[in-house]
Amino acid sequence: MADGLRFECQKGCTACCEQPGFVYLTEEDLRRAAEFLGMKPKEFERRYVYRTTHKLRLRVPAEARCPFLEATGCSIHPAKPTQCRIFPFWPEYVDSAREWKKAARFCPGIDQGPLIRIASAQAQAAQMRAAYPHAYEGVVSIEPANRRPPDAADPPTG
Ligand code: SF4
Ligand code: SF4
Repeated sequence: MADGLRFECQKGCTACCEQPGFVYLTEEDLRRAAEFLGMKPKEFERRYVYRTTHKLRLRVPAEARCPFLEATGCSIHPAKPTQCRIFPFWPEYVDSAREWKKAARFCPGIDQGPLIRIASAQAQAAQMRAAYPHAYEGVVSIEPANRRPPDAADPPTG
């Protein structure tokens, strides 16, 4: 395994937010984003969230633009969901040199900047697994890179 992974987010880039796929939230993500927008969690959920038994995600179709993406970037940046905050240190990328390279096709920050120690990258990947346990249960590998954790079962609705 490599000693680490190079990554540095590129100023002005929003490519990861423009990839197709769902944006999942934890309960804490929901609460934090609502607070950031000055909304009650219930109000935020009614307006933006689609909830199933085990998952919460933004209520937009997989191919649609994230409602928080603006020309200048993420309008809830300080309170963005866990998967957005941790990208590209998702388990599927950290654990596979091949998937890491695939993610580099749309993320210009990959393989740039300082070396992030592998232990640190793995710690972030572990945060992803903990945040979205149902998305990662039993997952060995995933389909092409996108902005969602792996989850083929969740019906796209908007
Ligand atoms: S695609 Fe990569 S470089 Fe661009 S905003 Fe996302 S993380 Fe940063
Ligand atoms: S919540 Fe913000 S960081 Fe996440 S996909 Fe939407 S615009 Fe991008």
